[in-house]
Amino acid sequence: MGIKVCKFGGTSMADAAAIKNVAEIIKSDKTRALTVVSAPGKRFGGDEKVTDLLYSAFGNRGDSEAFGAVFAKIRARFDGIIADLGLNYDACSVYSEIESGIKASKRPDYAASRGEYLSALILSKYLGFEFIDAKDIIKFDESGAFDSEKTNGLTEKALKNVKYAVIPGFYGSDINGAIVTFSRGGSDVTGSIIARAARAEIYENWTDVDGFMTADPRIVKNPRLIDFLSYRELRELSYMGASVLHHEAIFPVKKAGIPINVKNTFDMKKAGTMILPFSDLPKSDRVVTGIAGKKGYSVINIEKSLLNNEIGFVRRVLSVLEEHKISFEHMPTGIDTMSIVLSDAEFQRGGEGLINEIIAAVAPDTLTVSGGLSLIAVVGHGMARKIGTAATVCGALSKAGINIKMIDQGSSELNIIAAVDTSDYERAINAIYEEFNA
Ligand code: ASP
Repeated sequence: MGIKVCKFGGTSMADAAAIKNVAEIIKSDKTRALTVVSAPGKRFGGDEKVTDLLYSAFGNRGDSEAFGAVFAKIRARFDGIIADLGLNYDACSVYSEIESGIKASKRPDYAASRGEYLSALILSKYLGFEFIDAKDIIKFDESGAFDSEKTNGLTEKALKNVKYAVIPGFYGSDINGAIVTFSRGGSDVTGSIIARAARAEIYENWTDVDGFMTADPRIVKNPRLIDFLSYRELRELSYMGASVLHHEAIFPVKKAGIPINVKNTFDMKKAGTMILPFSDLPKSDRVVTGIAGKKGYSVINIEKSLLNNEIGFVRRVLSVLEEHKISFEHMPTGIDTMSIVLSDAEFQRGGEGLINEIIAAVAPDTLTVSGGLSLIAVVGHGMARKIGTAATVCGALSKAGINIKMIDQGSSELNIIAAVDTSDYERAINAIYEEFNA
């Protein structure tokens, strides 16, 4: 029988009671062999995540009083967990090593990673499982990019003679051995990497919700749970704001065709959401699988007569963005117009000169920028079979009196992206949701 790789998020690891529940889940199935964990998250509203405290310790490393106060909170969290689990383990020497490590660091990665490190160390002791340090198996290259093949080789080797182990999520190390973290929420990526290397039969991602919903429950009242999703639908939805899983978590398991099952740690009997290769999806007549969205976008509109005849026009505009290392989201074009939709964060990175540089590069007739936009993604393989999905999205928005600033359908017919004024964002999501009865 194959093995399962489980990843438990911050809420699942928040205190000793939660960790005992995690241990019960693991022990209830002998095939749950490899476990990846996050740092302890919030125990209650207004609580602090250990990772946030660690970033704050790094930020205060030059101020011994402020550093001491934050570090005392971190120690107290872990000491409380160790005591309440009844573990006979004195973490004093680990704390001192971490304290001096943070003080000596130039980048926040080492500090940020220590929550996962301690969390995994403690769980491994509680379960009596091996501890495998992610720094020895997860590798980043010279440029700081994740090195998937080197990682896969090292991880396969490290797991060869291991039956049961706990591995910290979120980090690895570079070619010099220095700690490097993924972006926030990156333990999901670690779980996926381990599942691929272990050739797991399934990657169980245990979290504090029942699974993916057809829309954000903070915006739409009682959205349905999505029982099945394809890898590609997941990528679209998580990239566009469905925050259940890190948006890069699918890549390692996708390579190996391993399903992901998102499940609720606090209600383990529920089936959750199953994420599968497209070919393994059960037959269904649903058109839209889910709706997601994000605020904080701007659009640069460029107009020039006979733009369509001007060879290299688009390239020159994009070269300016490339020089500033700006990535953009969408680029709808017309005969004499092109627009670039980009996040406000990317736009601001270009600085004040960006617009003038574009003007200098292509001498447009007009160039305008509008901010305050939100993007909404309507996602589902079913729309490829169904005529009129884009019309339904437009109809829903027009009935609600909402102006569409941009609409774009990917050639794969997997998603339709609409840009609306942020002041219309919540209404727009509800209008589309109702129309599709998603
Ligand atoms: N602890 C890290 C964070 O808060 C990583 C994770 O939980 O996946 O972002």
